[in-house]
Amino acid sequence: MTEYDVIVVGAGPAGSIAAYECAKRNLDTILIEKFVLPREKPCGGAVMFRGLKVINGNLPTEIIEQKIYGLKFQIPSSSSTVEFVSDKLIGITVFRNKFDEFLARRAEDAGVILMEDSRVVSAQVSEHSACVKLENGADIRGLFLIGADGVNSVISRSLGLRPKRKDLTRHGLGMESDFYVGEEGVAKGTDNNPHILSIQPLKGKLGYGWVFPKREHLAIGIAGPGIDILPLRPKFYDFCKHIENQANIELVPEKLRTFFLGADGLKHKNVLDRVILVGDAAGFVDPMMGEGIAYAMQSGVFAAQVISDAISANRHDEQYLSKYHNLCHDVFGSSFGMAEWAGPQSSVLVDRLLSKINGHPLAAEIMAKVARGEIGYGDIPATALRLLPRELPRLLRSKIRSYIT
Ligand SMILES: Cc1cc2nc3c(=O)[nH]c(=O)nc-3n(C[C@H](O)[C@H](O)[C@H](O)COP(=O)(O)OP(=O)(O)OC[C@H]3O[C@@H](n4cnc5c(N)ncnc54)[C@H](O)[C@@H]3O)c2cc1C
Repeated sequence: MTEYDVIVVGAGPAGSIAAYECAKRNLDTILIEKFVLPREKPCGGAVMFRGLKVINGNLPTEIIEQKIYGLKFQIPSSSSTVEFVSDKLIGITVFRNKFDEFLARRAEDAGVILMEDSRVVSAQVSEHSACVKLENGADIRGLFLIGADGVNSVISRSLGLRPKRKDLTRHGLGMESDFYVGEEGVAKGTDNNPHILSIQPLKGKLGYGWVFPKREHLAIGIAGPGIDILPLRPKFYDFCKHIENQANIELVPEKLRTFFLGADGLKHKNVLDRVILVGDAAGFVDPMMGEGIAYAMQSGVFAAQVISDAISANRHDEQYLSKYHNLCHDVFGSSFGMAEWAGPQSSVLVDRLLSKINGHPLAAEIMAKVARGEIGYGDIPATALRLLPRELPRLLRSKIRSYIT
């Protein structure tokens, strides 16, 4: 039986990037995907600049739906909004079927064996290798295994890294769809600025909704803690009705998709002997905003780096592979920690804090730094303090002007 250096399960952004990076390091790599590509994936499709950096921004223009320069938040206690717009690109929107297929084919072009239409049903690790079993009974063996099979990861459950069943009320849940509205509808749905992501708290709940512009579609969804957001369908329709009234457009969903958000990454173990979990399988999702594509891509790179180093060092043990956990901790820790704290009070923060700094260039600059991966959420207070002296003359001028006029 062929033995690969690395088996990667799941051709989402995490798996395809991990596989590509392994192939680039001359490792024999197989990428196994349960569907035929392109496949659907519930997602708003906003890829932050941090993720684009992983592929050096090399993306065919037809995959880019909109370039994104800012964020807009609805203030919970009023009908007004706060907006932060940067002159720097903070991300793009995409259709996940096209974006994910591009990344998988890119890995294939780099030498990865891409095996589509092949569902992995279990995984095992022995002293000498890691092995996955496919639905058709075939076994695939490798020196290392990367579990990139998303939020319901078979790899993580099969190897005891996550519980077998999830309690729906204790997890992030949601519903979303793409709505074809034409370019005119996108303009109406975005107040004539299709380069801004809009986020709105759900009335009286911890959840939030989003409207993300594409070229001729709006991606609209709601998410929140299961306990707050069930039953999903009526809450989703309420939110869509609200957007229809606000923008004076008609929304006909193409396909409703429900989903889990599993954001427990840095608290759980994500490595074992010969095994690393990446992306959603590892729970690397921002617990406040549900953003995970960029973390998936970055974690794919870290996994490939550590496995390549482990092979050079003739190691495969959990202790060596925990370098991966440390890398993720260093890069994602500040954002996940702050987001976890801020998530439950996000509507208060939008109300009391963001409304006070609406449109301020310093706030927009800091937002852009986070989206571009220059700082994490946890670095926001220190960055604001560092940049404030530079901004003081401008702040004073605008205060004085507001007294005069
Ligand atoms: C509704 C919703 C909206 C979101 N919006 C955004 C957003 O706008 N921006 C953002 O950054 N993040 C967003 N996220 C999060 C983002 O979608 C995920 O973080 C991201 O897809 C994680 O990538 P991944 O490669 O780890 O997993 P996935 O993209 O889920 O890929 C996993 C792959 O593994 C395959 N697979 C699964 N099981 C098996 C198996 N047994 N055998 C073989 N293959 C298997 C799947 O088919 C899939 O292709 C959103 C999430 C949801 C649910």
